[in-house]
Amino acid sequence: MIYLDNHATTPLDPIVLDAMMPFLTGAFGNPGSKHLLGYQARDAVQKARRQIAECLGCHPKEIIFTSGATESNNLAVKSGCMSRAHVGRHIITSQIEHSSVLDTCRALEDEGFSVTYLRPNQAGLIEIAKITEAIRQDTILLSFMLVNNEIGTINPIAEISALAKEHGILFHCDAAQGLGRLPIDVDTLGVDLMSFTAHKIYGPKGVGALYIRNAANSLLKPLQHGGGQEFGFRSGTLNVPGIVGLGTAVLIAMQKRETETARILLLREALHKQLLEVFPHCVVNGCLKRRVAGNLNVAFPGLPAEEIMLAIGPSLAVSTSAACMQASASASHVLQGIGLSDDLANASIRFGIGRFNTLEEIKEFGINWVLVPK
Ligand SMILES: *Cc1c(COP(=O)(O)O)cnc(C)c1O
Repeated sequence: MIYLDNHATTPLDPIVLDAMMPFLTGAFGNPGSKHLLGYQARDAVQKARRQIAECLGCHPKEIIFTSGATESNNLAVKSGCMSRAHVGRHIITSQIEHSSVLDTCRALEDEGFSVTYLRPNQAGLIEIAKITEAIRQDTILLSFMLVNNEIGTINPIAEISALAKEHGILFHCDAAQGLGRLPIDVDTLGVDLMSFTAHKIYGPKGVGALYIRNAANSLLKPLQHGGGQEFGFRSGTLNVPGIVGLGTAVLIAMQKRETETARILLLREALHKQLLEVFPHCVVNGCLKRRVAGNLNVAFPGLPAEEIMLAIGPSLAVSTSAACMQASASASHVLQGIGLSDDLANASIRFGIGRFNTLEEIKEFGINWVLVPK
C-alpha cells in the first residue's frame, strides 16, 4: 500500500498513540469527577489545552474541544451568525469551502440569512477586492479556509481579517488543512474563530478544536447543551484520550513543521516530474506557488480519473476529490469553482503526501503510472 491520500486523513503517529494509551486504559477518569482519577484526566486535558494554545499564540480558555473540524465549523458559523443576527443577516464565504461550511451556510439560508458564495480566481485564491465588493451594511460573518483540502492553495488570511476588522465583521477560518503545515498565530492571522481537527495532523479521528477569540466575552451560544463542559460552549463528557492525542499531535507537528515541509516538497517535486514524464500534457490545478508542500492536484486531459484509479489499482491510495464528497458522483465543486470544465474536473487526481511517505515510495508509485492507458 502506498498512501498518498493524506488530505482525506493521516495515519496515527505512534508517538501520539503512546501518549493516548494510558487514557484508553487505566487512566479512564471523567475530568469532571472530584477524585484522583478525575483530577488525572482533568490535568491531561488542561495540558493539551495549553499545548494547543501555545502553538496558536492564544489563551488556553480560548480553545474549545469538539469532535472535529465539521463540528467546529458548524459551531463557529451557526453560533457566530446567531450572535450577530440583531446586527444583520448576511454572510460571505467562498465556493470552494469544505462542505461543513457550505452546507451550514445553506442551512442558515433556510433560517433567513443570505449568503454570498465568492468564486476564487483560477489560481484557487480568494481576492480581497471581491470580498470588499461583496461587503454590505448587514454583513456579519466572513468564513474563508486557510488551506483548501483539494488543491492545497493558501488564502491571504491576514489580509481578509484586516478587512473584517475594518468593517466590524466576525471572521471565521477553517484551518483543518493548515495546522502543522503553516505557521499559525491567531493574532498575526487576526482571526476571531478558527477550526481544527486531529486526524489531518497524525492524531486520532473524532476530535478537534475551535479557537474563539476572547471566548469568555464572546456572544457565542452553544449548539449542544448539557453539563456545561468547555466553558459552557460544548457540553458532553470530554474525549480525554482524543484530546491528549490532539495536544500531542499539535506539539509534534510544530516541532517537525519546517524540516517536514522541506522534505515533503522534494517528494512532491519528484512525483510531479514523474507524472510529466508519463503524461506530458497533464496540468496542475490551482497555483503551485501558494500551496502547501504535500498537495498536488493534477488534471489528465482526456483521461477520466476513475479509469486512472482503476488502472493503478486500489493499493495506490489517491483520490478523485474530497473524501467526504465521494458519496455524490458530481464533479468537484472546488475544481469547478476555479474554472475547470466538468470533463477536466473528472479527469483530475489529488495527491496528498505526508509525514510517513518516503522517496522510495514516490519512485515505486511513479513506476505504476505506466500502467495507465494513454
Ligand atoms: C477534513 C476537513 C474538515 C472536516 O474535519 P472532520 O474532523 O473530519 O470533521 C473540514 N475542513 C477541512 C478543510 C478539512 O480538510
